[in-house]
This record gives sequence, C-alpha cells and structure tokens, in this order.
Amino acid sequence: MKEKKHINIPIFIPHLGCPNDCAFCNQRSISGRTHFDIWDVRRQIEDALSTAGERESEIAFFGGSFTGIDRSLMTSLLDIAEEYVKAGKVGSIRLSTRPDYVDEEILDILGKYSVKTIELGIQSASDKVLTASKRGHALSDTVNACKLIRERGFNLVGQMMIGLPSSDEKSEIETAKLICELGASEARIYPIVILKNTHLVTMVENGEYTPLTESELVSRSASVLSVFRENGVKVLRIGLHSGTELNSGDEIACGYYHPAMGELVEGELYFRELEKRITALESPKTVTVTVPRGDLSKAIGQNGRNRARLTEKLGLVALKFKEGTDLSVEKE
Ligand code: SF4
Repeated sequence: MKEKKHINIPIFIPHLGCPNDCAFCNQRSISGRTHFDIWDVRRQIEDALSTAGERESEIAFFGGSFTGIDRSLMTSLLDIAEEYVKAGKVGSIRLSTRPDYVDEEILDILGKYSVKTIELGIQSASDKVLTASKRGHALSDTVNACKLIRERGFNLVGQMMIGLPSSDEKSEIETAKLICELGASEARIYPIVILKNTHLVTMVENGEYTPLTESELVSRSASVLSVFRENGVKVLRIGLHSGTELNSGDEIACGYYHPAMGELVEGELYFRELEKRITALESPKTVTVTVPRGDLSKAIGQNGRNRARLTEKLGLVALKFKEGTDLSVEKE
C-alpha cells in the first residue's frame, strides 16, 4: 500500500518563555514572526488543512522551547491541537524544546495529549561547545531528556548544529553518533547562520569566533549526514527554513548561508562516494555514472561542481551522468 504523504502544520512560538540567550539565536529572524497570538493559531491550522488534501497532517509547535512557556498557555495550545486530532482532521502533535525543559512532570502532561514526537535542540554533545555557545544546559541534561522521552514511548528527533563556537568536525561527528545512540529516529542538521543582533556577531567582532567557509560548512555537514545515514536515522532537514529575511540577507550579519544547503550537502556526499568508486576502477579515463532517478542534480553538484572536481582530481577525460535505478560507475 502506498504510504500517505505527511505534512507538518507548523505553529511558530517565538522565544516565548525562553530565559536563555544562546549565542546564535535570534528567534525573530528564524520564525519570521515578531509576536505571537494564540487566537491566530486556529486560523493557521485551518489555512494549512484547506490545502493539505489527502495528506496526513501533524500540528507542530516549533520555534521556541515549547515546554518552557507559561504552563497555561502551553496547555491551551495543546487543547486546541487536540481538538483537531479528536475531530479526525489531524493525526498527531509534534513539538520542539530544550533538553533542560524535559522532566517527568512535563512528559506526564504531554502524555495526556496526542503528542507523538518530541524534537530536542541538542546542538552539541560537548560541554565545552555548549558553554561557548551559551546554551545554558549541559550534556547530562540531554542524556537525561532523551532517556525519559524514549522510555515514555515518544519519537525522538535530535536537532544539531554545525559550526558552533569551539566545535570542530570531530565533536560534530560525536554529537551525531550520540543522537543515534540515544534512540532518535529522525534528525535535523543546522549549519550555523550568523544572524544580526546575536552574541555570535560580537564574538566575530572580538576575534573570538571565525565564521566557517562554504566548503567547511558543507563538508562537516556531509560527514554528519553520513553518520545518520549509516545508523538508519532519517534526516528531515539540512539548514534553516528559508524565509524572506534570510533569503534577502537582511537578517544575516556575516558568514555563509545558502537557501538550498541540503542540496549542497547531499552533493558533497555524492562527490565522496563517486571519488571512491571511480578510484577503484582500473585506469579510468572516460567514466559513466548512473544515479537513481531524481538524484541527477545532486550527483553532478551545483553548477556542475562535482563533475569538474572529479574530472580534475582523478585526471578523467570525460565524466558522463545518466539516470537509472541504482548508483553505479562504468569506464569506457
Ligand atoms: S533556547 Fe532556543 S529559543 Fe531560547 S535562546 Fe536558545 S535557541 Fe533561542
């Protein structure tokens, strides 16, 4: 039977109740909303449902730290979402929060509603990185929260960042491995974006943080993606959702940002795999690569970058790409 397509109905809760000020965070930029009105929530859900068609829907409270907001507001939002579940219009509820805002009592409350999935802003598995990023919680909070979430039977989604202060590729790979070990079924990878009005900008100005280049961000994200794939953890997204402000660059202070980061990162993984396979051929000169249908642009890379890099690095005369069923390489 064909799997029903799934959509999230995202309700952004900007910075509500969050006493933290993570070095990279400017919630207004990320969610594109400066205020929040609970009366507007029904309208947002109705609008989304009117275009959802046959797809299975899930109401998703994103953007802030949902379990850290005022308790009565949190339960009012859950009540609204639950009405839609009970009416059979929505399948379940998903929310995102911080590791230190998860405990037995919170999970008791969530367990009374149709909350199926909890996304946790883990960001890093290194206490050094968490401190440098002013996260305000420790790795032990993450481990405790993940254990509780899994013990209660919720799906766990681990969100992590690439390029945080004091972070490097090794610590990011360790973070991805820990997310897998702690039982996440899905993950999100956020290469850092240096937003205006954040502490990170001050760190750049003071010489305490150097923005990563495009190739560093793409390469480190690809290494992490590869860990998740090897462990069967589905990556839901790579990079922030592009909003008007992000696309126009108005909210970005400096550093690299690309609206199609996922495409670049998947392209980098293709580059690594193709390099390995073509190198294994004996004296390859003209090579034809077959890629699964729909993957041609990722395999060739943005602006043909993979074709150009592979041709030059491996001394090829020609590198051709075509679509097929499985990935394979053949020399002529
Ligand atoms: S906990 Fe979340 S909402 Fe609060 S400052 Fe950090 S990233 Fe922003």
